[in-house]
Amino acid sequence: MIPSDGVGEATELLQQLIRDRCVNEGTPESGHESRSADALAAYLAGPGVELRRFEPVPGRTSLVLRVEGTERGAPTLCFMGHTDVVPAAAEGWSHDPFGGELVDGEVWGRGAVDMLGITASMAVATKRLLRGGWRPRGTFIYFAVADEEAMGTYGAKWMVDEHWDAVGCDLLVTEFGGTRLPFGRGTVLPVAVSEKGSHWMRLRARGVPGHGSMPYRTDNAVVHIADVISRIAHDQPPAELHEVWRSFVASLDLDPAERAALSDPRRLEERLEALPLGIARTLHALTHTTFSPNIVQGGTKTNVVAESAEAHIDIRTLPGQDGESVRSMLRGMLGELWDHLEVAAEGDNLATASPASGRLWDALVGATRRLVPGSRVVPFMVMGATDARFFRRKGTKAYGYGLFSDRVGFDEFMRMFHGRNERIDQASLGLMVELWESAAREVLA
Ligand SMILES: [Zn+2]
Repeated sequence: MIPSDGVGEATELLQQLIRDRCVNEGTPESGHESRSADALAAYLAGPGVELRRFEPVPGRTSLVLRVEGTERGAPTLCFMGHTDVVPAAAEGWSHDPFGGELVDGEVWGRGAVDMLGITASMAVATKRLLRGGWRPRGTFIYFAVADEEAMGTYGAKWMVDEHWDAVGCDLLVTEFGGTRLPFGRGTVLPVAVSEKGSHWMRLRARGVPGHGSMPYRTDNAVVHIADVISRIAHDQPPAELHEVWRSFVASLDLDPAERAALSDPRRLEERLEALPLGIARTLHALTHTTFSPNIVQGGTKTNVVAESAEAHIDIRTLPGQDGESVRSMLRGMLGELWDHLEVAAEGDNLATASPASGRLWDALVGATRRLVPGSRVVPFMVMGATDARFFRRKGTKAYGYGLFSDRVGFDEFMRMFHGRNERIDQASLGLMVELWESAAREVLA
């Protein structure tokens, strides 16, 4: 028998989604999201419910449920949750990563926090809205999307490009946010309003080959690239206090000295050095274009002076920066070294941002205050990529959110992402069902 409460239904649905094992290995044949599209369709089906399936290649199914609004011109709101997960090996886990076991009030398994718990709770909220014969003024969309974990090629990107008629919206909520941030006073719940961009580069240095037994005044590509890496590691660009950062700092409850330190680029660098590593690293990434040299290759043989060497740099950009701004920063850091490099870039994946204001923002803040009294909702930026970016680029106001109980701390939450022992407690599932239902009613009323 299906339990009639939100927590029970969200728990069962989440267990099913975990057991469906929609593991995305980055190949077209992996994922198998059709399994979870089937499960969600079976759960959501009912008289008058419009469900559509989209499948760019066999097995990579996304599911769309629409409730058409009664009023033209009223906003369209979409709740989007991905159904795929990254791989997990059972080794190092306390419970089967695909067992969906309920242990001591927690559902265990790959995807519990990223993001099947959200996808499931959004479905339960949708079902509750449908059961009540809800007639929203604006159109509501529930969108269970495939292939988030491999760039959205067979999921959000494809749907936005090919089926905007089905998923196009003014307002959207997806992952991630809503775990208590250990910064500022009180309970601080971040909402992702922005995502950093990326601009990966390969830098190649050239040298002249010669015998390794006589290195004096040789032109050695490995030495050149070592200089380049060393400069990049030690001479990164200064903090940039962009709009999202400023509104983040403004919404925290801080003492005046702390607020002042975070509002001045130079004092911010000093402050970061004094903070615990986890939060310091997060705040640093929020305020800096980051350059991380993560691969180096070069030379051919121990007794040959290297003719060629290459470094691969993971570069993450802030809103407003493109490939040209990245090149000019690198030129500044590398000085004369820059002129001797061959540079190849992977192309721009620009940062995106939505304003932290308006109907959806107010609804999420209001519902959160009711559900977690005394909490503060703050705008935040995601360092990696989520499917929200495809929508923001179409003009949609998109937020990443969830609502987690105090049972899991921020650091542990971050470790569980793509890590071991991923799990979510039932209180969090219950909070999210309430949050989504309440936000949808308010935004589309
Ligand atoms: Zn995710």
